[in-house]
Formats: sequence, structure tokens, C-alpha cells
Amino acid sequence: MKKEYDIVIVGNGAAGLFTALHMPKDKNIAIITKADMEESDSFLAQGGICVLKNEDDYQSYFEDTMRAGHYENNRESVEIMIRSSQNIIRELVDFGVDFERDHGEFKFTREGAHTAPRILYHEDLTGKEITSKLLACAKDRPNIEIYTYTTMVDIIEKDNICYGVMVEDADHQVHKVLCDYTIWACGGIGGLYQHSTNFRQLTGDALAISLHHNIELLNVDYVQIHPTTFYSTKPGRRFLISESVRGEGAILLDKNGERFVDELLPRDLLTAKIKEKMKEEGSDYVRLSLEKMSAEDIKKRFPNIYKTCLEEGYDITKEPIPVVPAQHYFMGGVKVDSEGRTSMKRLYAAGETACNGVHGANRLASNSLLESLVWARRAADDIVKNYESIPRDWCENYFVSPDGEGYVADYTYESVADRYHEEVREEIELERKARMEKGDKQ
Ligand SMILES: Cc1cc2nc3c(=O)[nH]c(=O)nc-3n(C[C@H](O)[C@H](O)[C@H](O)COP(=O)(O)OP(=O)(O)OC[C@H]3O[C@@H](n4cnc5c(N)ncnc54)[C@H](O)[C@@H]3O)c2cc1C
Repeated sequence: MKKEYDIVIVGNGAAGLFTALHMPKDKNIAIITKADMEESDSFLAQGGICVLKNEDDYQSYFEDTMRAGHYENNRESVEIMIRSSQNIIRELVDFGVDFERDHGEFKFTREGAHTAPRILYHEDLTGKEITSKLLACAKDRPNIEIYTYTTMVDIIEKDNICYGVMVEDADHQVHKVLCDYTIWACGGIGGLYQHSTNFRQLTGDALAISLHHNIELLNVDYVQIHPTTFYSTKPGRRFLISESVRGEGAILLDKNGERFVDELLPRDLLTAKIKEKMKEEGSDYVRLSLEKMSAEDIKKRFPNIYKTCLEEGYDITKEPIPVVPAQHYFMGGVKVDSEGRTSMKRLYAAGETACNGVHGANRLASNSLLESLVWARRAADDIVKNYESIPRDWCENYFVSPDGEGYVADYTYESVADRYHEEVREEIELERKARMEKGDKQ
């Protein structure tokens, strides 16, 4: 890896790749990722991506997003996201993304808390379809270099200006990498939880670094639990049974085989109902049945879920599967404005790491890929519009210290990881308690 780039992007999920693809082709861009090329949550998205179908749907799409978010959403962000959606989908199609169609027209599906079908999809592998196409385009650009197993350990900062990142490479060497602009696209925080649908390396590193450098955070206690993940006692990621399975008619059953809830409730409310039922029954899971769909439809519409459950010993065309709620999505994050700017100059954030308030207290299904792409694009546009190189001679002698006391030494990720993770967990807990106290007083 070189010592200097024009732009460094941390994370190669949908947000990181889309930002890179909207930068001018004469800028040198480095994308770094903690893991392999395809190990990002963006590859895992099953259900789909929302779009404003037509003008008649605007009000109900807006209202569905607000209602799911308990009306704590930033209204301007919601409007930006919905109004940008058709353009984003056009761009994805131009990048080669293939959405399900019927006689040439897009097909739409529906998920929990949507009052209308407005979700585009590609089998049950929408995230893979989108992200693999973006990745292929990024690999084709000579100005974009992608470094795998390369981890951001810290940023280089002076007087609230970001000058680049401290990076540990695949050989565990730590380097200073200087740049004009840094973009955080580091995904969620699922790796901090015992049960999560996220990749384990997603541990909210940008949040820990923000705490060390006084970068503003927002709503960090807003963590979404997905109501239906495949129940397993194995370690590692939990396999998601997408909301669209319920959208297509799957029902939830108690231990007597009785339906006990409206399966299309918003995620937080449905999670509460499932947990209540598990407590009442003293069970570790409830059951999800696809009995209302034909075997043929199930295999065509949810081939990946069908195959994975079969590997786990369940044929979803014939029997219900055990499901349990697990950590899934992070609504909070590094606070950004409508252009993806953080509170630190020359540092942007997009995707699940960032919080522009669009989801409020709870995300509406299939809004997150869209939001990631909208803010990735806006961050790129803002950087391009205001691009200025920055003199950084002083950085030559810069070293950083994990305790924040002056510039003493470089350090590996392993040496700070436990501490970073604990600090983020503590911050989430502090914010949760503060919000509860505030709520109590009101
Ligand atoms: C199972 C599952 C299903 C989902 N289904 C849907 C869906 O149907 N529709 C929808 O809209 N959303 C869905 N989501 C949510 C959506 O996939 C994510 O919110 C979105 O993809 C986030 O994209 P991102 O680019 O911000 O982060 P990610 O795609 O997670 O990428 C984060 C990147 O940051 C890198 N990284 C992290 N920390 C560091 C570090 N310190 N140094 C270097 N690199 C780092 C990671 O290695 C990774 O490359 C789903 C999520 C999951 C887990």
C-alpha cells in the first residue's frame, strides 16, 4: 500500500464501493477492508431495496418509514432518501444490476410494515447481486485499489481535521496512510453481540475511534433486532430468514402449531411478541411455516433460504423451521449531515456506520441498502464539488497512542480491539440509560 492517496475509503460494502465509483477517475483511491472482498453485510442482504414506485406512493412510503421509526426520523433525510431512490436504481441498472422483472417491467415485493409492495429484488440474493456488480466495476477502474485484510486502527488528526488513517496491513505492519479525504463505510456493530446476523468483523471501529477524537455520534442505543433468524446453537453468524418470506405469506406458530401474531408488524414490535411467546412457553425459539406457498414458488423465490435450511436439516417446503430474534442492524452511528459530513473536517461517513437520522428509532425493511447508496453518492458529490488538496508536511513525524496522550507509537489492531469493543458497548449502554432517564422525567 502507498503512503499517500487522494481518497481513502474504509470498507468495501455497498457504501464504500458506490462512493469510490462516484469519484473522478483521475483521483487515486484506496479502499481497505478488514476481511476478504466479499465479506461485507452488503453481500448478505436477501430481501431487496426500496424504491419510490411512482408519485402516488410518495406519501405512504414516507409515512411507512416514519411510523416504523417511531416518528423519531429526520424528515429531511427521509425525503432525500425517497426522492433519490429512482435515480439510484437507474444507476445500479447501469452498473449491471439485474432486478426481477415481468415482461420487462420491475416486479415489486413487500416486507413487514410496508403498506404497499415497493421493494425491488433479485431472487433472495439482492445484496450479492448489487454488491458483486459494484465490486466488478470498482476492480475495472485503474484509479481504485482494494486492500483486503487491511484494518483501520485509528485516524490521523490535528485540530479537528482528518489527514488520513493508521492502517494495519495483511502482514500486520502498521502504516500511516495520508489523504485529502477519508470516508468511513465500515458497516454495523453485530460483531459486538453474541447473536447477530452480521459478519463478525463488524465491530463499530469507527465509533470507538470517534470517541477517542471527539467526533459526534448519534442515537447509538438504537439497535435493531431481527425477529426471525434461523435458530442454531452453533457459534458465528445467525442465518437470516428474510422479512420478505413473511411478506409472501409465511406464518409464525407457537409450540402447539397455532398462529399467534401478525407477522407483518414492524420489526421491534414483532420481536417483542416473539420474545413474549418464548418466555410464556419456556422455549428457545418459535416456528415459521411457509405452508401457504407452493414448493415450486418457495424454491423459485427463496432458493438461498431453501438451500441453507436444507443443509441445516429442514425442508421448508414441507415443515416449519425454528426461528429466534437476533441483533441485525444499527440505526445509530457517526453523526452526519445531509451530505455525509461528520463533525470532523475532511472526514465523511456513509452506510450503516453513519447516522443521518433517516431510520429514527427503528429501520423500515429494505431501506438500508438504499440509504447507504444515497449517502455514499452524496458524500462523493460533496467531496468532488469542494475538492481541495491539503498540505500535510507535519504528518511526517506523527505517531499515535491508544491512550490518546500524545504521539508516541503505532500499534496493532489486536492490541486495542478489546478496549475499542468495550468502549462502544459502554457508550451504547450509557446512551440507553440516559434516554430512559430522560423519558422517565418527561
Ligand atoms: C443478513 C442480512 C440481511 C440484510 N438484508 C437487507 C435487505 O434485504 N435490504 C436492505 O436494504 N438491507 C439489508 N440488510 C442491511 C444491509 O445489508 C446493510 O445495512 C448494508 O449493506 C450496509 O452496507 P455498508 O456498506 O454500510 O456496510 P457493509 O456492507 O457491512 O461493509 C462494511 C465494510 O467495512 C469493513 N470494515 C469494518 N471495520 C473496518 C476497519 N476497522 N478497517 C477496515 N475495514 C473495516 C468491513 O470489512 C466491510 O468491508 C441486511 C443485513 C444483513 C446482515
